[in-house]
Amino acid sequence: MAGRYLLRACTKLRFANPNVAGRPLQRTMGTLKGVPTDDEQATGLERRALQALKKGKDPYSMMKPKEYAGTRAEPHIVPCIGTKRLVGCLCEEDNTAIVWFWLHEGEAQRCPSCGSHYQLVHSELPH
Ligand SMILES: [Zn+2]
Repeated sequence: MAGRYLLRACTKLRFANPNVAGRPLQRTMGTLKGVPTDDEQATGLERRALQALKKGKDPYSMMKPKEYAGTRAEPHIVPCIGTKRLVGCLCEEDNTAIVWFWLHEGEAQRCPSCGSHYQLVHSELPH
């Protein structure tokens, strides 16, 4: 039934504007601008995520995290909505065991095993 309405709308458009006749069927859908993009039709959470990505933000950690040296001057940044967060450090590239420790708000802390510095940074999740 919807296909019949679409076909009827297309034939009306072809009679009204002969230039439309040469276009494929998908170009005549909706507002004559073609198939809507993700930006035009996204709603809710997806729309908020797309808008945040345009502003350079990454509210849902969808992008690869930035790498830090882990030194005192440039510690690993750990976003957190509270005052402490459990952090797992894979001290060396080939390690099979993860060293877990609590990272608290305030000064940068060191991993008890390898000595890399971690800094807790308060972040807000969008509502
Ligand atoms: Zn470590």
